[in-house]
Order: sequence, then C-alpha cells, then structure tokens
Amino acid sequence: MAILEIDNVNKSFGGLRALWEVNLKVDEGAVHAIIGPNGAGKSTLLNCLVGRLAPDTGKVTFEGREVLGHKPYEINQMGIARVFQTPEIFEDLTLLDNVMIPAMAKKDGAFKLNAWRRVSARKDVREEAEHILEDVGLADQRHLVCSSLSRGDKRRLEMAMCLIQHPKLLLLDEPTAGMSRADTNATIDLLKKIGERGITKIIIEHDMHVVFSLASRISVLARGTFIAEGTPDEIKGDPKVQEAYLGGAQA
Ligand code: ADP
Ligand code: MG
Repeated sequence: MAILEIDNVNKSFGGLRALWEVNLKVDEGAVHAIIGPNGAGKSTLLNCLVGRLAPDTGKVTFEGREVLGHKPYEINQMGIARVFQTPEIFEDLTLLDNVMIPAMAKKDGAFKLNAWRRVSARKDVREEAEHILEDVGLADQRHLVCSSLSRGDKRRLEMAMCLIQHPKLLLLDEPTAGMSRADTNATIDLLKKIGERGITKIIIEHDMHVVFSLASRISVLARGTFIAEGTPDEIKGDPKVQEAYLGGAQA
C-alpha cells in the first residue's frame, strides 16, 4: 500500500522547469531510491515534500492526507522527517542536546529555548536520546560539542535527530555525500538497522553501491521528470537509465 503519493507535481524557477509532471507512489516499508544526474530536480522534489518549496501545481498525499500547503513543522508532525544534503545541526551544543531538541520541537511545532531547557531536565527524553546515540554509534561522544565532529559523524548525528522523532517516512538527501568509503559503509549498515524499525525511506543517492545495497525500488529522475522505475535489477539493465546518465555527465 502506498504511504506517499505524488500526483502530477510541477515546479518552475523562472523559465527553468525543475519538476515536470512528477508522479510517484512510495509503498509503506519500502526503501525507495531516487537517482538521476545532477540538476535533475531530486532536491527540489524533496523540498516540495517537506514544505520548503511550494510546487506550482500538483497533489501530494501522505497516509491519505494532503501535504501541500502545510508548513514544514506541520508536515514533520504528520510523521515525515528529513536528513538534509548539508547537515543542519546546532554546532555549539553537545550531541546529546542536539538529539533532545527535535523531540521537543516535534511536540511544540517549533524550537523554543525555554521549552528545550525544560526538556533537557526530562529524564525519559535524555534516556531515549542516549539510546539513539548508541544506535548510531555516537554514544562515547555524546557530551562533545558538535563542531568537533567529522562530516560522517555529523550525518550520523542528524539521523539520530530524525529517529527521536519516530518518523513514519524518512527522507535522505545524499546521505553519503563527501564521505570516505568506510563512513559510507557504516552509513549503509546504519540505514539497514533503521530499516528494521519499519520506517519507510526515500533516499536520494549518487553512489550506486549505496543504492543497490539498500533500495527495494528505484525511480530515475532526469530533467525534472521520472523516466524509469523498477526493482534494482530492472533499473540496472534499463537503456533509458544508461542514456540519462551518459547524457547528464556526472551522476
Ligand atoms: P538535484 O538535486 O537533482 O541535483 P536540484 O533539485 O537541486 O537538482 O535542481 C534542479 C534544477 O533546479 C537545477 O537546474 C537547479 O539549478 C535549479 N534550482 C534548484 N533550486 C533552485 C532555486 N531555489 N532557484 C532557482 N533554481 C533552482
Ligand atoms: Mg540535490
């Protein structure tokens, strides 16, 4: 059953058609990868799903509810969380604080310092944050300030910040971008572990090793529209996909 349905979404920036008649169904429990050359519109699509951008036309439903027109925090409260292409964390706070904040933000709708101070005193939230940091392999560093973290660890921290919100749908925009092979493999393992929690995932990824390690379904976006969809095996052999990549230079 589809948990998310994208129906005929269009988005232009001035004269540039970034998304054009985009349709997608994501099944509950799937790891659905969206691949495609740079500039294909992948991040634009995610931005539309989380309310950061308003499509010109189209419809998006999550668990049967309309998503478009809602504010990012409202969409987040519906159960959609996102790991951004560039980590968005509070650099001057500790890892533990960073994981505790979204737990409160989800309840209150927006981050409020006073609310956060209250939550920082709450033992249950702290314990859950500690558990999640352990799950993502950052327990030892929980009292460090985030600015000292490696890029790979910042990504892991962001995933912890998502997991504490108990999302039903997790959106990941190039979760391994700029990572070493070791960090990339650790991220694959982590995402597999998260998979055991039954969270549906949409993953945008340029690293085919990551895509083929994780995805149950793959959709290929090129020049703002989906040109192919299938299982990993079907996509591997699809000439349209090869052409889109060769024509689009870097993947
Ligand atoms: P991808 O994530 O697949 O690499 P993007 O969604 O970032 O692609 O971009 C799709 C196209 O839309 C690109 O041509 C990009 O330059 C353009 N674009 C993205 N965001 C904006 C924006 N805010 N204003 C103008 N053009 C944009
Ligand atoms: Mg992008």
